[in-house]
Amino acid sequence: MKIILLGAPNSGKGTLSANLNKALGFIGVSTGDLLRKEIASGSELGKHISSLTSAGKLVETETVITLMQNYINSLPKDANLMFDGFPRSVEQAKMLENIADIDAVLFLDVDEKTIMERALGRITCPKCGQIYNRAWYKLDTCEKCGEKLVVRSDDNEESVKNRIVVYKNSTYPLIDYYTSAGLLERIDAGKDAQNTLEQALKILKCIEAKQ
Ligand SMILES: [Zn+2]
Repeated sequence: MKIILLGAPNSGKGTLSANLNKALGFIGVSTGDLLRKEIASGSELGKHISSLTSAGKLVETETVITLMQNYINSLPKDANLMFDGFPRSVEQAKMLENIADIDAVLFLDVDEKTIMERALGRITCPKCGQIYNRAWYKLDTCEKCGEKLVVRSDDNEESVKNRIVVYKNSTYPLIDYYTSAGLLERIDAGKDAQNTLEQALKILKCIEAKQ
């Protein structure tokens, strides 16, 4: 099965992705990870990507698609995949269709007030980059590496508001697009991570039963 995870920053997408991996072995296809991996490989393409990102430019969709295609080809054909952070536009959604048959789009629906509260409660590990939230995570140190957690300087009210605007502009057309395609599955992600996971599992079970 191939699914897309859609949701605002702090909608709990990262946590759901980790939980679906644990529960059903879904493999995350993350644009950011693929780009970082290619840069680290030192390939010509990696050098090209590095020159764009270090200049603050966006990597072309064609390049992202090529990396995804290569990655998907390296996995077993029947692997369960979840796309996270891609597509970000209807144009990208159409290109993705050329390399993967999407079975469902899980949209993590959270109201703005909750997004705001979660963003402002966010704490990050400066060593390994793991993100936690005060709402769920009660320790001061990283679970993975033991480093002391910090609040990132860009997790302030104004920048969070900006992120929400950017998100809405790019995601709302996708919600319409996937609704018309009959693929959109709405999840109420306003409660905790366990609740979000349970809804997702229920949806995926239904889809599997129909196949
Ligand atoms: Zn850490």
